[in-house]
Amino acid sequence: MNSIQNLFSLAGKTAIVTGANTGLGQGICVALAAAGAHVFGVARRSCEETLNKVNEVGGQFTEVIADLSDLSAIEKIMTEVKSKTERIDILVNNAGIIKRADAIDVTVAEWDQVIDLNQKLVFFLSQAVAKDWIADQKGGKIINICSMLSYQGGIRVPSYTTSKSGVAGLTRALANEWAIHNINVNAIAPGYMATNNTTQLRNDSNRNDAILERIPAGRWGTPEDMYGAAIFLASDASAYMNGFTIAVDGGWLAR
Ligand code: NAP
Repeated sequence: MNSIQNLFSLAGKTAIVTGANTGLGQGICVALAAAGAHVFGVARRSCEETLNKVNEVGGQFTEVIADLSDLSAIEKIMTEVKSKTERIDILVNNAGIIKRADAIDVTVAEWDQVIDLNQKLVFFLSQAVAKDWIADQKGGKIINICSMLSYQGGIRVPSYTTSKSGVAGLTRALANEWAIHNINVNAIAPGYMATNNTTQLRNDSNRNDAILERIPAGRWGTPEDMYGAAIFLASDASAYMNGFTIAVDGGWLAR
């Protein structure tokens, strides 16, 4: 392998990916593992399918079962991962939920559920890994998963839009403080991707057609579409990138 290809290698690295059992998180696990990382996938249910997909690419994957709706999960994750590896190098904050309702009908409970997982957990899990990284001065990589609704208002998902707009801001805020410690905090904003998150939208033929008509690439995205950006932001290739959100959206934002 020449030195330029080496830039994208994750050999010898350890990554934590939240929401690892399905969808985009599963795709990110496969990508990072194929690039050489030992991936610890956090999920509240079995990650057997992800393990099988990682095995197919010859990668290394360990499941960590935790319900991320409660901040106490952070200590469990850190303790479990650190008992099995010397050092964490990469954190991907992928787990997220969406609640669809007219703004006028949103309840406090629904609002808190979305903000707690999509935003609060992202901050405090990032803080937990960064404490180790600042202490050992060896740096690290944080990749947050944003959304088109980090840029736009969306329709009938006000808590989700608030959370993902917040994560884009948080990505910049953490990058500003931690770049000096060799910690790269960046984000990926997926466009409209065919996962559980968008089942309701894809089942509504009017919304499905309207969305497809607006995507220049003419198709919904897939977990595989996340591979390139995830490896790039997790690797030395992005060493001088801080606080930026890359859109993987088939051109949605370009319209
Ligand atoms: P998904 O298939 O619904 O995946 C969401 C993941 O988060 C699942 O692994 C889910 O686990 C996990 N999760 C939810 N609540 C959890 C909890 N309390 N504890 C632990 N894990 C929990 O949807 P996805 O599209 O892959 O979503 C991944 C990320 O991409 C999310 O942050 C989402 O907002 C973002 N995103 C998606 C799209 C899109 O079009 N699909 C676009 C932009 C951004 P369970 O399977 O157990 O629920």
